[in-house]
Amino acid sequence: MSGKPGEEGAGTPREGTPRVARAWRPEGTRVRVGQVEIGGPGFVVMAGPCAVEGMEQTEQTAAAVASAGAHVLRGGVFKPRTSPYSFQGMGEPGLRVLAEAARKVGLPIVSEVMDAAQLPLMEDHVDILQVGARNMQNFALLRALGKLRKPVLLKRGMAATFQEWLLAAEYVLDGGNEQVILCERGIRTFETATRNTLDLAAVALAKQRTHLPVIVDPSHATGEPDLIQPMALAAAAAGADGLIIEVHPRPEQALCDGQQALTPERFAQLMRRLPGVLGAMDRHLWMPELPAHVVGAR
Ligand code: PEP
Ligand code: MN
Repeated sequence: MSGKPGEEGAGTPREGTPRVARAWRPEGTRVRVGQVEIGGPGFVVMAGPCAVEGMEQTEQTAAAVASAGAHVLRGGVFKPRTSPYSFQGMGEPGLRVLAEAARKVGLPIVSEVMDAAQLPLMEDHVDILQVGARNMQNFALLRALGKLRKPVLLKRGMAATFQEWLLAAEYVLDGGNEQVILCERGIRTFETATRNTLDLAAVALAKQRTHLPVIVDPSHATGEPDLIQPMALAAAAAGADGLIIEVHPRPEQALCDGQQALTPERFAQLMRRLPGVLGAMDRHLWMPELPAHVVGAR
């Protein structure tokens, strides 16, 4: 199969067109979280620590990313770690820390769910449920998410083809949950100079072939702070609908992914540079719509 949804081999549902296909909703899907809209003209930035480590770290990061203009707070409390001896996340107490930090700065939350059994707990605190790269083909989890009416951020598996990524999204849509955001986070290739290889062509292709919002994670895609800003700006130029970026106030002390964390200062610099690139694409950073009477009075 060529990778084009709707062609032979896609396992097409009843109507003959996969639900992820652009033809299903040519105008594009917009996913709402609180006031924020992902997939419209506004570009949405999600930022925060890889892992929630405690109240002070989470609140400091939340305050920093919010004041730099981020729209959604990220933070993992269930961490899929390569080694069973690495920090596995704070679990349930971490969710309360994350929720409190987000409430103080008024941002919605994106956080990773590793298992369907965690959903009842997470549903109460989290606005966007992230499916990590390692779980992209956890079909039981995808089916469970299909039953919810809550946005899902679906990361591309590290060895998943474009087609496999879209079919994973299809599982969630087929269950009736249409609030899916695709996230390109780099794939594993022969190249070892960067943590992964960022497939920006897949971002532009996903925008053409599907109606779903597509965002980019330059943190896991590169694993290297110096490469995050250039790849974030390139993602904006490639037509992504947003970014998800890891930020830590003291990267050298981070319990997870500190080597790729941006400091708050570097994150703020990126936020200042994004509007220039977005402007060239006739887009802008997402901002709340002003009520008609305010717009009229300007
Ligand atoms: C993460 O967001 O911290 C994470 C584990 O990402 P990925 O699933 O893309 O590796
Ligand atoms: Mn991480």
